[in-house]
Amino acid sequence: MPALRGRAGGGPVVVVGAGAAGLAAAALLRAAGQSFTLVEARDRIGGRAFTDRALGAAFRFDAGAEYIHWAERNPWAPIARAAQAHVAREDGWARKLVIDGRPASADEMTQRRAGFSGLDALLAPKDGDPSLAEAARAGGPDAAAAAAGLSRLSLGEDPERVSAVDYDRLWSGSDLWIDGYGDLVARHFADLPVSLGCPVRGIDWSGPEVRVETARGTIAAAAVVVTVPVGVLRAGAVTFTPDLPDAARTALGGLSMGAYTKIGLRLDPARLDAAALGDAVSAATAGPTIYFEMQPFGRSLAVANLGGDLARDLCRAGEAAAVALATERLIAILGGEARSAVQAGRLAGWWTDPHARGSYSIVAPGHAEARERLREPVGGRVFFAGEAMAGGGAMTVGGATLDGERAARAVLKALGT
Ligand SMILES: Cc1cc2nc3c(=O)[nH]c(=O)nc-3n(C[C@H](O)[C@H](O)[C@H](O)COP(=O)(O)OP(=O)(O)OC[C@H]3O[C@@H](n4cnc5c(N)ncnc54)[C@H](O)[C@@H]3O)c2cc1C
Repeated sequence: MPALRGRAGGGPVVVVGAGAAGLAAAALLRAAGQSFTLVEARDRIGGRAFTDRALGAAFRFDAGAEYIHWAERNPWAPIARAAQAHVAREDGWARKLVIDGRPASADEMTQRRAGFSGLDALLAPKDGDPSLAEAARAGGPDAAAAAAGLSRLSLGEDPERVSAVDYDRLWSGSDLWIDGYGDLVARHFADLPVSLGCPVRGIDWSGPEVRVETARGTIAAAAVVVTVPVGVLRAGAVTFTPDLPDAARTALGGLSMGAYTKIGLRLDPARLDAAALGDAVSAATAGPTIYFEMQPFGRSLAVANLGGDLARDLCRAGEAAAVALATERLIAILGGEARSAVQAGRLAGWWTDPHARGSYSIVAPGHAEARERLREPVGGRVFFAGEAMAGGGAMTVGGATLDGERAARAVLKALGT
């Protein structure tokens, strides 16, 4: 590996992490004529926006982000249109519900739908900052069950650990479903110079400049934009000298990572009746509730989605166990013939990925100000950015992009450029 040089290697700003936030920050610095060095631990850019081809190019699926949320104000909506990406509107498909291996009865379907009615109002707390579980309790057991499903299958976390105030702040709007969100992000920023395979291990901000220690040497910089996921920060994978101030550490303590997880199953189209495949939810009294996305963009795939502690267990158990469980659940929905149709499987296990350590940031009950606090620059030269600091845009590619730009503007201001 060639060593990275100091200032001569790229200039006075280092951007750590080439996901949406780091890429957007670097692009803004470049547009302002500010030199920078962008370093990335993985051998690719895009971070948690990644179109996975492990099952074959014809069976690709987005292992991370796939929806452009709040499309009315999301910068990726016009980018996707300009790139002529294949985009569909998310329109709430008809869904099958399978409970413990049998189709749900009409009563069970009605009961499930009833749980969701009025949920939004319940989850907008009037006092304090309760968890989603606590906030939903007032609506009775159906509302509590609906809140748990929503929490695990859209936030990737169990409802006891999610701040209702933070959830209520998240932006809403229409969702665009995009074929290859990861590819779009990587293509959009393809011309930015990036040092790949270059994990940052330490940031020394004790002196007037910042010294960023990477696997390929130390870079001296006037400022650093740190966009690694909060799970990576909390794991101590990047050390700070001196340690971060109390305010930043308290903010980090109020944030954690959910475990939204996907398992792609490649299906032999000759062995399945395509007409029988409709999106489905598989609930079980023992084991995780799984949402199956069938034949995304017409590909012969079923993608299982799950979250919370049971998803964490599955990530730790590894790909073979995850694929076996997803296959069993698919059989419970489609019948025994589905077994021979499953040709291969792929676990997108972000929870055990050392460069993510989870799916996206979760604010703990009682810590609703954590996102805002972590935006405060440290020592005027360490700037945190990413989805976790994106306020109402948190947990999304659009939010990460806007927040990366926000941090880059703050750096330019601090440097007087
Ligand atoms: C399963 C799943 C589904 C999702 N679905 C959606 C969706 O439908 N729509 C949506 O908008 N969002 C979705 N998201 C969230 C979205 O992917 C993220 O919010 C967004 O991509 C985060 O961007 P970021 O730049 O903040 O972080 P990242 O993309 O994680 O970028 C951080 C970068 O830092 C790198 N890094 C880590 N450690 C180091 C180190 N020590 N040194 C150098 N580099 C390092 C990482 O490799 C990574 O490339 C989903 C995420 C997951 C996991």
